[in-house]
Parts: sequence; C-alpha cells; structure tokens
Amino acid sequence: MRHTPRWRKFGRMISIETRTQELTGALRRAGVRITRQRAALLAVVAAAKDHPDAVELHRRAHEKVPGISLSTVYRTLTELESQGVIHRHQFEGEAARFEHAKTAHHDHMIDVDTGAVVEFHSERIEKLQAEIAAALGYDIVHHRLELYVRRKRAAD
Ligand SMILES: [Zn+2]
Repeated sequence: MRHTPRWRKFGRMISIETRTQELTGALRRAGVRITRQRAALLAVVAAAKDHPDAVELHRRAHEKVPGISLSTVYRTLTELESQGVIHRHQFEGEAARFEHAKTAHHDHMIDVDTGAVVEFHSERIEKLQAEIAAALGYDIVHHRLELYVRRKRAAD
C-alpha cells in the first residue's frame, strides 16, 4: 500500500517559480553568474519530482537551452548543495541524485530492480528514532533513512 502522500500537498504549495527564484538567489549569493544555460538548469532542478542524477538534469536543461556542459551542471549542483538549497542522495550503486531541499522531511525507498525512488514519511519511525537517540542521551540533528526494496510478487 502506498503511504499517504501528506508531504506532496506541502510540496505543491511552493511553486516551481518560487523554487527557481530560491535557487537563483543562492547561486547569486555564491557569486555565480546566472547565464541562460544555468537559468535553464535551475528551472529543471526546481521542477524535478523524481530525484534525477546529474546526467539526466543535463539532458533536461540541454533540451530547454542547448549548450550547457555537463561539467557546468556538476559545478552548479555542487554549489547549490553547499548553499543548502538542494540535497544530494548517494544511493548504493548509483550516481548521486538530486532533490530540491524545500520539501517536507521524507525518507526514501529504492527499488533495487528498477532504480525507482519512492518517498515515504512515517510518524512512527520518526518518533521511534527520537526515542532511541534520547535513550542513548542524544537529540537527533538530522537523519537519512534508505530502504532498498523489491516489489512483492503475487503468489503463484
Ligand atoms: Zn525525496
């Protein structure tokens, strides 16, 4: 059963334009010049809902405005990450994938057969993690949870 996509509603409240402006502002603060190519990349990152890797983001940006190089994509993503406006996910056995940071907290399931990334959020898990950390004398600052999954087969 798919988890209730509560965070999706949250995500939809922030428009792609607002996200693009945030990314643009972050790059400007870092002293990066916003070329047409970079602007196209930022729009693509802001619109992505599927945790694309750099090669896929490059393909999408190139489709909008030809001429962006893959190395520019990598450098721009690194800068956005260091500004805290995107998250980099290093799932096992895959190229790093990227996601806009302005989403409600969620964890990821990675389908080991298809590479599909499924987002989920569980209050029970969040609470349990906090309890475990507290029992050991800690507050959680940040966490990442990745489940590597395979689709259940129908019994035959
Ligand atoms: Zn995600």
